[in-house]
Amino acid sequence: MENKRVLNAEELLEKIFSFMNEMVDTKDFSSTILLLTELGRTLANSERASFWYWDRAKKQYWTLVALDSPRIVVPEGSGIVGASIENNETILINNPYQDERFNPEVDKETGYQTRSILCIPVTNSRGEVIGAYQAINKMDDKGYWYFDERDQRRLTMAAVFCGKTLESQMLYSESQLDQLTGLKNRRGYYEYYEKNIHPYLLRQSCSVVMGDIDFFKRVNDTYGHNAGDAVLKCIAAILRNAVGDSGEVIRWGGEEFVILLRGCAVSEAAVFAEQIRKNVESSICYFEDIPIRVTMSFGVKALDPHLAPEENVKDVDEKLYEAKTSGRNRVVADEL
Ligand code: GH3
Ligand code: MG
Ligand code: MG
Repeated sequence: MENKRVLNAEELLEKIFSFMNEMVDTKDFSSTILLLTELGRTLANSERASFWYWDRAKKQYWTLVALDSPRIVVPEGSGIVGASIENNETILINNPYQDERFNPEVDKETGYQTRSILCIPVTNSRGEVIGAYQAINKMDDKGYWYFDERDQRRLTMAAVFCGKTLESQMLYSESQLDQLTGLKNRRGYYEYYEKNIHPYLLRQSCSVVMGDIDFFKRVNDTYGHNAGDAVLKCIAAILRNAVGDSGEVIRWGGEEFVILLRGCAVSEAAVFAEQIRKNVESSICYFEDIPIRVTMSFGVKALDPHLAPEENVKDVDEKLYEAKTSGRNRVVADEL
């Protein structure tokens, strides 16, 4: 085990500047968070450090970065991180095995010995807790030691930076999602296309499916706008389940959805779209206790690597238009 000397003020400043310099060159979220976690570990002189994200939707905490250990996922409210997040308070423990908030089971399993813990809640600009920063096992030149208030002040600085970075990443992700269905929105489509479709298009056939709910206006007119919203959510779930890991579903707008399928030739995509069409046709969506049935029309096309992402959608929209004008509740594929 490497013992690290506690840094004096000048050395500390030097460290901070060198981290900040590196941050300037670091553009992506995970590398930035990794760097900030490393900064925290250096500032507090701890053996381990981890940065936890509170996934409110899944009611879980998971480590965005855990230096020296694999990703950990725990249920909301558990452990020291849970206590720190729930009460929005810094927790400093130098005798964990005597503290009832500490769960010794993980140490028993891994053989690791936790001696001291410093956990700081991470908040967004509105002061809401979005995660926590945890340092484990303070070390100095004599070996293991205790965290003190000075470590707390130092670690708070890293936690503040982590919070800002996490918040901007969360806002960015949210801006790519449709609020009603949780699917990607049009902005999310472009990002997904650039990252996950465009680089493979020359080597792999990929297809795009565009689906539109038939006579959706009638649903709103008959049952009201909230019922329409419930149907949109229900259809979004059907599409997402059908697509799984083989692609991405995007709410293109209103009652129109785009499905990007990687490694899928247009003939396969047409068969797949037909399965989805049948699935929608035989499904019942519920609003309160009212059963509502809808059908969908689909256009299918191979993605053309030479076209811009929006032009590919324009082409598949023409196929969808054919499906609508030729009677609805059908799939029209561009088999060329
Ligand atoms: P078609 O078979 O030709 O597609 O007919 P349609 O009625 O589905 O198409 P139209 O474009 O005439 O109407 C779409 C309707 O979708 C109109 C709009 O009010 C409704 N809509 C769009 N977005 C939402 C939404 O978020 N929630 C609800 N409830 N309705 C929406
Ligand atoms: Mg429609
Ligand atoms: Mg439409």
